[in-house]
Amino acid sequence: MTTELTADVCVVGGGPAGLTLAVELAKRSVSVVVVEQSGHFDRSFRGESVSPDSVWLLDKLGVLGRLDGAYQQMHRMEIVDSGSTVMRADFRRFPYPHPYPVEMPQPALLSALAALGQEEHPEHFTLVRRATATRLLRAGGEGGPVTGVVARTPEGELTVHAALTVAADGRFSKVREMSGLPYTKVPLERDVVWLKLPFPSEWDDRTYRIRIRGDQHGLFIPTHPDSVRVGFNIPKGGLKELRAQGLPALYERLDGLAPELAGSVRSEIRSWSDTSMLDIFTTTVPSWSMPGLVLIGDAAHTLTPILGQGVNHAIIDAVTLAPLVRDAIDAGGDEAALGRAGAEFQRAREESVAKSRGLQLRQERLFALHGVGGIGRRSLYRVMDRSQKLKQRVLAGAYFQLQKPGPHVVEAQSPATRV
Ligand SMILES: Cc1cc2nc3c(=O)[nH]c(=O)nc-3n(C[C@H](O)[C@H](O)[C@H](O)COP(=O)(O)OP(=O)(O)OC[C@H]3O[C@@H](n4cnc5c(N)ncnc54)[C@H](O)[C@@H]3O)c2cc1C
Repeated sequence: MTTELTADVCVVGGGPAGLTLAVELAKRSVSVVVVEQSGHFDRSFRGESVSPDSVWLLDKLGVLGRLDGAYQQMHRMEIVDSGSTVMRADFRRFPYPHPYPVEMPQPALLSALAALGQEEHPEHFTLVRRATATRLLRAGGEGGPVTGVVARTPEGELTVHAALTVAADGRFSKVREMSGLPYTKVPLERDVVWLKLPFPSEWDDRTYRIRIRGDQHGLFIPTHPDSVRVGFNIPKGGLKELRAQGLPALYERLDGLAPELAGSVRSEIRSWSDTSMLDIFTTTVPSWSMPGLVLIGDAAHTLTPILGQGVNHAIIDAVTLAPLVRDAIDAGGDEAALGRAGAEFQRAREESVAKSRGLQLRQERLFALHGVGGIGRRSLYRVMDRSQKLKQRVLAGAYFQLQKPGPHVVEAQSPATRV
């Protein structure tokens, strides 16, 4: 059976970028169909750390209120290098309306966004699950403007015709691939193995812990409601070698970073299927749009996991693009108007993404140092530790690009705040 739908906008991908965009469009009476390949929102190890600017935005969008009890504010960060605490930051001391990141399971966030769209804007918001986009519709054939997508569903083929198609289908974006837009994927020197353990009773559950020893490091992230996500680096492509050494090698790797977890890692991690591997790379796409199509979120700019920036930029992208699309529709909604909206969207967003990427890559390089380089790294963290201003300046590249300092909520100037 073939089903045909028509909307102003077709969004491919119901992740943080796609669903936030769909809600923000529907709120502005722009009709939107989201095609999402998965039948559920269950994802573990995905996008649970949400940056302060996005917490602020989610609050303004009315999403945070729907998530009561489903997330945890994080108050502190602590870096221990070679056994000494070299840097501590207390997010609550930063003078912003929402100074803290939160830990929020992605299924809770996505369910809240979908419910918001379906309950408050049902006439403009349609989410089709178990629909995998397989082909772009093009006016005039191959290479022509994009006019929608064809998706595979269990019931048959779904065709969505739209004035604008948005690729929000993540770091391995199929739509980006099908569009022919050029991109560069840059693998980083490390991959990360993730696992989840029960939260140790002796740790404070509002502190991010980073432990470094030589060129090895681990991230220990309290995970709502009662576990800790552990991520530790391995050399790029090194999973095969680690697995060949067996689970005892993994246990010993962790012992060196967090001896407190020695008991639980042995009792909880009984096979490699209890772990998850994140292949770390960044993707840069010189042009985020072409006639009839815009890329957002990871499809436009894949980032590394440092300081939870993927979800942050996905949400800010969505909130930035929605009013521009509304304006373009008001200006006639033709290819030229929507093309200008796509170009303006990229202009508004790319500097901010580049800033976060720069901060992440500098941190990646610091992690990789050892020997004399390791001494330099520790000195750098100690200098930062002594200056609240410096901590604020460094973290601002990731955490505070939208919010303005001040005790009360101040409207920022970027189009991203037109919510
Ligand atoms: C292991 C891991 C841990 C991470 N941890 C964090 C973190 O703590 N904090 C953080 O900010 N970021 C984190 N990230 C990154 C974060 O998950 C992404 O940056 C963020 O989810 C990007 O949102 P998005 O909506 O652009 O893409 P995604 O969240 O990837 O969503 C894309 C959606 O598109 C759907 N899709 C894909 N192809 C198709 C298709 N052909 N048709 C229909 N639907 C399709 C997918 O099912 C998915 O729902 C992590 C990523 C990984 C892999």
